[in-house]
Amino acid sequence: MTLSGGAMIPNTSIPGSPAPFPGAVELPSTAQGMDGALPRLFGDAEPSASASAAPGTPGYYFLTPTLATRSSPGSSFSRRIFDVRDIRRDFPILQERVHGKPLVWLDNAATTQKPRAVIQRLVHYYEHEYSNVHRGAHTLAARSTDAYEGAREKLARFLGASSPSEVVFVRGTTEAINLVASSWGRRHIGAGDEIVLTTLEHHSNIVPWQFVADEVGAVIRVVPVSDRGEVMLDDYGKLLGPRTRMVAFTHVSNALGTILPAQEMVQMAHRVGARVLIDGAQAVAHFPVNVQTLDADFYVLSGHKLFGPSGVGVLYGKKALLDEMPPWQGGGNMIQRVTFEKSTFADPPARFEAGTATLAPAVGLGAAVDYLDRIGMVNVAFHERELMAYATETLSQISGLRMIGTAAEKAGAMSFVVDGISAEDVGRILDQDGIAVRAGHHCAQPTMDRFGVDATVRPSLAVYNNHADIDTLVRAVRRALRH
Ligand code: PLP
Repeated sequence: MTLSGGAMIPNTSIPGSPAPFPGAVELPSTAQGMDGALPRLFGDAEPSASASAAPGTPGYYFLTPTLATRSSPGSSFSRRIFDVRDIRRDFPILQERVHGKPLVWLDNAATTQKPRAVIQRLVHYYEHEYSNVHRGAHTLAARSTDAYEGAREKLARFLGASSPSEVVFVRGTTEAINLVASSWGRRHIGAGDEIVLTTLEHHSNIVPWQFVADEVGAVIRVVPVSDRGEVMLDDYGKLLGPRTRMVAFTHVSNALGTILPAQEMVQMAHRVGARVLIDGAQAVAHFPVNVQTLDADFYVLSGHKLFGPSGVGVLYGKKALLDEMPPWQGGGNMIQRVTFEKSTFADPPARFEAGTATLAPAVGLGAAVDYLDRIGMVNVAFHERELMAYATETLSQISGLRMIGTAAEKAGAMSFVVDGISAEDVGRILDQDGIAVRAGHHCAQPTMDRFGVDATVRPSLAVYNNHADIDTLVRAVRRALRH
């Protein structure tokens, strides 16, 4: 069962598909696929009838179908998932007040807040386990190594990788893309070869490829997007050819929220023999992702956008590809043997983790995916999708507000501009009401150029957001427009 965008809904009925990771909630076999069960945001299709509730698993409140989420006005969609009030209680920062008002955190595309489970895991690690890893022959080194390698196993499971050795810990999405561009790119991309990107890319999935292209004399080709902010698949197909070496695209646009048809795009790229890197920075916190179902060659993410600490991210790479890639940074930990004449290198993932690793952040990220596994990413997806539909509908009713990006399939982020007030000023006005949104170009200037704007206001959702957050946002935008 596949969410458009390639995300896999754990479902044992998929022939040959990898087993769902432990902790994921399986929908009952009577449940409809997500495409069928969820309202389309801007499409013509009518929202379909409610899907069945996810089965409860005793012991975790979030798996108990306690509360029907509110239906968006005019939509028949409703689904019993979890009580978002319970989720909110897990995030201490949501109790903060800003300018005397309760914090409304709608800047999740920039970074997500941290659940107590992650905070406490870090405290425990520093109080009881902390040491450098791998090298020490003492008890704390062993504990710390277990915690660090345990986190790698959790991330491998969360992403559906076939082995933890396919998971490289890096500083974040930016570093992961630079690693692939530098190591894989320099080896496999030559003069006259082509790198295909989309208009929707974050700067960090553009600039590293420009470095390689400039160095080797390769050409960057860009897939256009429609007025709705959807990639134009026909044009994409035409751009692919025998010179295409790499296709790198975002799974979800950070500026518009568009979910790209990742699985289809990977298949098309593979047909011409190209490799594919998917930038999952804006996807992994919103719906289940399975790298094997996607058949991604590389998949990258940032821990801080996945309820984990900053300073850690993941590069997933197929084992065969990582195995033949040269190191990109030299130092301790990544070697087999060093002499002044010659050095030999460790196998992946250590080959790509030179120096002291990003220890505590990786352990914290492991706790974050444990937390998400307990909620179930399918449930996260349903909750957010319903909230996105509600936000889209209520924001679109504000006269003087124009949505930028009206794709039928969206997750996380939405963008808008308002008449007569700059995006930055809207951001400042909303902040006075305790509402955190991002206003600017979102490190996606080509996307802004495509829509003829310099900046947008970008509220973005996470599992802990609720309808009250959206109502507060809508009220504040209306007030801003009145003044
Ligand atoms: N790619 C996308 C789609 C993003 O949204 C971001 C951050 O906003 C990045 C890459 C860069 O992530 P980081 O700054 O964590 O490396």
